[in-house]
Amino acid sequence: MIQPQELTTHDEESPLMPKPTQQVAKLKQGTVLDHLRAGTGLRCLRVLKLPPGTTVLVGINLTSKSHGKKDLVKIERYELSEAEAAKVALISPDATISIIRDYKVVGKHGLHPPIAFRGLLRCTNPACIVHTERIAGSFVVESRDPLTVRCDYCERSITADQFEFA
Ligand SMILES: [Zn+2]
Repeated sequence: MIQPQELTTHDEESPLMPKPTQQVAKLKQGTVLDHLRAGTGLRCLRVLKLPPGTTVLVGINLTSKSHGKKDLVKIERYELSEAEAAKVALISPDATISIIRDYKVVGKHGLHPPIAFRGLLRCTNPACIVHTERIAGSFVVESRDPLTVRCDYCERSITADQFEFA
């Protein structure tokens, strides 16, 4: 006698299967950086300096309903710290950063660059005291659009295209 469950198949072609709508595969565990400004995905990866061997999926110039074009980065089995998330926000202020566990979003990092922060960036002024005293940079966000920060020590304004990450 045929058991009911034997009638169930896992045929990929079945019309009952939902059509894949995502442009990049779903992440089981790790971090998703979404709504990155188009063209900033690879820069984020360079700045994050992930552990060697980390699996990363990168989407460049994906179509976004709300932003036109966007980049998307999925990092497997790695959860971004607050400081790492802040770096991403300094590169791409509108990014959303989601921590994924077992396919579910379990946390989101702040979506905006910090108002004031230490470390993260290096002051671009070679004469700034932070270089001779070997102290961490300290900055305040002067303007959000275009993103500009000011060094607390020498008061130099640094625009996003000049950022040197610590
Ligand atoms: Zn400075």
